[in-house]
Amino acid sequence: MPIYEYRCEKCGKFEKMQKFSDPILEQCPECGSRAERLISRNVGVVLKGSGFYKNDSQAVKDKARALNKERQKDNQAILDGDVGGFIKQSEETSKKVSEA
Ligand SMILES: [Zn+2]
Repeated sequence: MPIYEYRCEKCGKFEKMQKFSDPILEQCPECGSRAERLISRNVGVVLKGSGFYKNDSQAVKDKARALNKERQKDNQAILDGDVGGFIKQSEETSKKVSEA
């Protein structure tokens, strides 16, 4: 389950583990003051593989890291001006992501 960061008007920041399906908290569970959800620092990585969030095992983390490396290859190809290579590499990476 992902952990979301919130900020309470009174208590400051706190973290709350929630399912994706859970509603966003609007009140601090501690004091009942208004709380707002902060954008997580952990978001931003391309991790669309089904089931990625189902567990947080080392194997899954390793897989995510490997996929990020593949993405870096994509970026390097386009920096080299190799658009054909970029598309090919990117397609392969997307395939790996969907299989992850
Ligand atoms: Zn509070």
